[in-house]
Amino acid sequence: MASEPRNIVIIGGGIIGCTSAYFLTRHPAFNPSLHSITILEATSIASGASGKAGGLLALWAYPACIVPLSYRLHAELAKEHDGAKRWGYRAVHCGSIDAKGKKPSDGENGGEAVEGGEEWKKLPKTNIKQGETIGAEIPAELDWFDRSSIRSYTEMGTPNTTAQVHPFLFTTSMAELAQAAGAKIVFGSVTEIDYTGHGVKGVVYTDKETKEAKRLDATDVILAAGPWSRSIFPDAPIDALRAHSVVIEADVSPYAVFTEIELPKDFAVPGQGKKRRHGKSVNPEMYARPDGTVYACGEGDERIPLPTASDLVVCDESSCDDMHAYISSISPTLKAGKVLAKQACYLPLVSTGGGPIIGDTGIKGLILASGHTCWGIQNSCATGKLVSEFVFEGAAKSADIESLDPRNVM
Ligand SMILES: Cc1cc2nc3c(=O)[nH]c(=O)nc-3n(C[C@H](O)[C@H](O)[C@H](O)COP(=O)(O)OP(=O)(O)OC[C@H]3O[C@@H](n4cnc5c(N)ncnc54)[C@H](O)[C@@H]3O)c2cc1C
Repeated sequence: MASEPRNIVIIGGGIIGCTSAYFLTRHPAFNPSLHSITILEATSIASGASGKAGGLLALWAYPACIVPLSYRLHAELAKEHDGAKRWGYRAVHCGSIDAKGKKPSDGENGGEAVEGGEEWKKLPKTNIKQGETIGAEIPAELDWFDRSSIRSYTEMGTPNTTAQVHPFLFTTSMAELAQAAGAKIVFGSVTEIDYTGHGVKGVVYTDKETKEAKRLDATDVILAAGPWSRSIFPDAPIDALRAHSVVIEADVSPYAVFTEIELPKDFAVPGQGKKRRHGKSVNPEMYARPDGTVYACGEGDERIPLPTASDLVVCDESSCDDMHAYISSISPTLKAGKVLAKQACYLPLVSTGGGPIIGDTGIKGLILASGHTCWGIQNSCATGKLVSEFVFEGAAKSADIESLDPRNVM
């Protein structure tokens, strides 16, 4: 199998497509004179969630069948390629705080607050309630919060179990390292996978520059288009959920912080007049980064369905402003920090729950690697390694991932 010529086409240049390309070039059976590897990306590398995620890595993430492998591979890659410098890899503390927010001062209040508002739709990364029995002292170095607002602190992870990367830098580095080892990157939007007859034969795409329809012959296709997977292959049971995030200038101690913030009754977001979007409590997540910034992400929302391409994703600035106001209500440091980016992206979710799904689709040569939910950065390395094993060895070898078999849910 590995000694025959292969044209391997990866659809999607997000973190899953790029780690797949990287690990395919590192597989012992890869022979650049026999095997071609092409990433076909519609917009630009890491233009979706992979460039706008938080980048938290955790041994306490899910699913358990790939988390330890992926966590270890992240550490190994960082060691091999100086990930600390190249993509901001480092170990961090992680905790959750239960806090009562403070009102913006009178001069800042945009208007009279109106009670009510929708309930905050939490991203499915973790359930804070799960850890609440542990309890802990608020660490002294977690000094970027107003202590008088914090009701309790729960340790969720230590630097032995929790780390981080800058997802855009990690994804683009994976693409560059794969390219240096022989993979190609082609910019075009896949419109069809040709699997007529006995398995995969090729893909049809619209060239990004010329807008012409083109075809790439393929013996193997890896569908790694994240939330767009279903639009390319309708049998892929993948849904999409939008989420907003902000990047704030603030040089603070290395913590990832989950929150439960109770908003004061008459809380109004500065500059937003009388409407109050949210109800009683909100749950933004904040991750300090080594580049002197803090990344914060908000709730999931279904107000705008997935657009056809990553460059058409709409960012609702007021959602970002809400989030900054909520964070500011418990952190004077983040309140003072300049907001450097306001952005939105879509999370890939498996329609039946759980996720990701990785492996054979039942169509010869078509492998699906998608639905990574809130843990796609953490689980990217294991996914890439397992994809390389499916391609060159016909099965997953490094982990038992029967529970992630796409055929279970297709
Ligand atoms: C707010 C937020 C915070 C997050 N934080 C974390 C975190 O801290 N830790 C963690 O582990 N995970 C996190 N995640 C999850 C993680 O970002 C995703 O699981 C992961 O990025 C999914 O990667 P992907 O490659 O499958 O999809 P994507 O990044 O969406 O990439 C898919 C790619 O496919 C391309 N594409 C689409 N259609 C086509 C087509 N027709 N032809 C060719 N290419 C196409 C797109 O342009 C895109 O580049 C977070 C997600 C969100 C939304």
